Amino acid sequence: MAYKKPDLSKFRLETRLALAGRDPSRFEGAVNPAVQRATTLLIDDADDLYNTPRQTYGLVGMAVQQALREALMTIEGGAGAVLAPSGLAACTLALTTVAKAGGELLMTDAVYGPTRRFCEGTLKKLGVTTRFFDPRIGAGIAELINDKTCGIFLESPGSLTFEVQDVPAIAAAAKARNVPVVLDNTWSAGVHFKPFAHGVDLSVQALTKYQAGHADVFMGGVVAATPDFARRALMTYKQLGFNASPDDAYLVLRGLRTLGLRLEHQGASALRIAQWMETQPHVSRVLHPALPGHPDHAIWKRDFSGSSGLFGVVLKPAPAAALKAMLEGMEIFAMGFSWGGYESLIVPSDDNLQRSAAPWKAEGPLLRLSIGIEHPDDLIADLQAGLARLNAG
Ligand SMILES: *Cc1c(COP(=O)(O)O)cnc(C)c1O
Repeated sequence: MAYKKPDLSKFRLETRLALAGRDPSRFEGAVNPAVQRATTLLIDDADDLYNTPRQTYGLVGMAVQQALREALMTIEGGAGAVLAPSGLAACTLALTTVAKAGGELLMTDAVYGPTRRFCEGTLKKLGVTTRFFDPRIGAGIAELINDKTCGIFLESPGSLTFEVQDVPAIAAAAKARNVPVVLDNTWSAGVHFKPFAHGVDLSVQALTKYQAGHADVFMGGVVAATPDFARRALMTYKQLGFNASPDDAYLVLRGLRTLGLRLEHQGASALRIAQWMETQPHVSRVLHPALPGHPDHAIWKRDFSGSSGLFGVVLKPAPAAALKAMLEGMEIFAMGFSWGGYESLIVPSDDNLQRSAAPWKAEGPLLRLSIGIEHPDDLIADLQAGLARLNAG
């Protein structure tokens, strides 16, 4: 008997994440899709070689990639999704989809560094300029939009400095001038911010982070608001020769099954730890949008349904040696880039900041914490001992 796919839209997130992409009738009853390692697809009818609606080559992906694309649309909504070999490749795919030679991109100054470098390198070489703007520009973006503007790229909150952008206000100004809006929605894992309800045209996810969730897979996704944007994004994927490995797609899909649980736990732990950090004498400010003292708290509260496990901390000025002793002595937190995995990470971010429109000013060192699934009391004890080393320095 063929499996009757339920209408997932009526279910809550955890249920959708458990069922998304399931089609056991295609896989001898197996709950999970098969990993098909397929480049060449054999075609019986010569007339079908060049003129058929069916897939004739494996590059766009087989059942497991299709299941993952479906699952991404189940989380964020949208009319279509494409995968990319990394989160950064998803950013560059979305940017390439909207970029035009002679055009100008508007980009948040708080953007992830490698996305900035793609604009300043490859896109610039191809005749696309980029103007960076203050992430808190809001409706003021209207003054920057002109006839050359080919797209607006947002990242909210910024993944190092945690400014929450007024996406609806920016998207409204963009819509008025028919300019596409791209959002790097990685912080929310696509769960806590609904891009298409807020006017976004292309939503980018570094699936490497929360979706994969185990620090072992690179993958990106772009979900499109409309069939037209989905078609354009797929065309870019094909023209760039992108591929998403079936083994990796399988691992991301497996990660998605527990995304709801992990995010709930990690988000709650992170908020608790952020609140605790706020009370510590060596901490100057905690950059977590769910804290009432965060400058963008009202926007976050209006637009987000929750928070993930990534936030920033500005310390009071501290000697470099004391900071080094704090970081190197941690027992649970480890230093490393990336985030969203099951393991807690801590990293100093000052050397990673590249700003041109809205310079970053802080009274002391900036740290970024990614809270994993360890017990929050153990994490707090680890941080407490770390702050004591900072104090001793
Ligand atoms: C990590 C990250 C990316 C890139 O993801 P990779 O899979 O590491 O290429 C893109 N955007 C944001 C906000 C990120 O944090």
